[in-house]
Amino acid sequence: MVLKIESSYSLLNFNTLGIDAVAEFFAQAASIDEVKECLAFAVANQLLVKILGGGSNVVMASYVNGLVLNYSNAALQVVNETATDVTIKVGAGYNWHEFVLFCLAKGWFGLENLSFIPGTVGAAPVQNIGAYGVEVKDFISSVHGVRLPDGDSFMMAGESCGFAYRESCFKQELDGKVLITDVEFTLSKKPCVQVAYSPLDKMARERGLPTPSELSGWVVQVRKSKLPDPNELPNAGSFFKNPVISDEQFQELIKRFPKMPNYPQESGVKLPAGWLIDNLGMKGHSFGLVQIHALQALVLINNGGSSEDVLAAASMIKESVLKTYGVLLEQEPRLFC
Ligand code: FAD
Ligand code: NAP
Repeated sequence: MVLKIESSYSLLNFNTLGIDAVAEFFAQAASIDEVKECLAFAVANQLLVKILGGGSNVVMASYVNGLVLNYSNAALQVVNETATDVTIKVGAGYNWHEFVLFCLAKGWFGLENLSFIPGTVGAAPVQNIGAYGVEVKDFISSVHGVRLPDGDSFMMAGESCGFAYRESCFKQELDGKVLITDVEFTLSKKPCVQVAYSPLDKMARERGLPTPSELSGWVVQVRKSKLPDPNELPNAGSFFKNPVISDEQFQELIKRFPKMPNYPQESGVKLPAGWLIDNLGMKGHSFGLVQIHALQALVLINNGGSSEDVLAAASMIKESVLKTYGVLLEQEPRLFC
């Protein structure tokens, strides 16, 4: 297929919040050569290049200046295999959940708890995706890509990516400066299921320890029961990160809110942001076109609003949480502009 660079391109189907946005220019590149063609076009026209995957962790501005580039390559190759584990290199355009299912079918384990997370393989290292006590950082051996806008290739070992809770160098110092083209994962051939988080733990106690494929099915089942499908109710998943507060602040808060769930960490105590919002009686509350989901207070549903509407709702929620608990929530999906 010939590379097409389109102008005034609708991004409505490229963001799960369903924001009716337009890109000044848009291109979908399937190979490094096509990426280089796009970068040459951007340099020649003095355009900034902005990388978009599946749009499930962004708040899309109504108009995005520059060239929005989506890398669709989904090639997968085994780069090393031993009796105990396998290392695979996967194109950034591979759909994340399909990749998890592919690994399970091959008998390559570790990613089960991360089943059913929307988006692409290329975005997984960006926020170090995590769910049910597992983070993708523990399986990423290296990240490959090109620098923007010159197109020089780079390779970073997993340990050098600055991975932390929903964080990495790709969200910090390299933000807007690289396109991730491939991610290398090292997975185990030996099942080792992680069922410590409450819904999975409860299911394991009732049904016995699951196989990795069963565990993936449980995760899909739990997620479907409480998280809205973006195709039906446009959303970007959890809108805020779970805050980690100091032990001193926690001791004060727990006196006032004895039922507040809490999870001790090395650096303090993690509080579920969803509970903080829910406890204010805000579940199901609407701010114009934007609603707090009735089943999960951490999810904002967008009923046709713009980025301004979504961000205004988020600001009001943050303000209420700060006023009541003295805790500043940090937004997870970022403005794509
Ligand atoms: P996008 O939203 O397109 O991009 C996100 C960021 O990554 C942007 O800054 C973009 O510029 C950058 N980016 C994307 N691709 C590349 C690339 N190839 N190279 C360089 N930069 C790139 N997240 C979790 O961690 N855990 C969950 O359990 C979870 N559940 C979710 C449930 C729902 C219903 C939804 C809607 C979202 C959920 N998310 C979750 C958030 C989201 O799915 C993940 O962050 C996912 O990895 C985003 O992938 P994407 O391809 O849609 O990225
Ligand atoms: P939940 O079970 O209602 O729990 C609320 C929060 O409490 C979770 O986010 C989790 O934090 C924390 N938690 C629960 N059990 C814990 C334990 N044993 N130890 C430490 N922390 C614990 O969560 P949920 O909303 O249904 O989501 C389930 C999982 O999927 C969570 O891991 C969540 O992060 C992930 N998820 C993420 C997104 C996103 O967009 N980022 C969207 C949906 C779901 P952690 O977030 O630190 O795990």
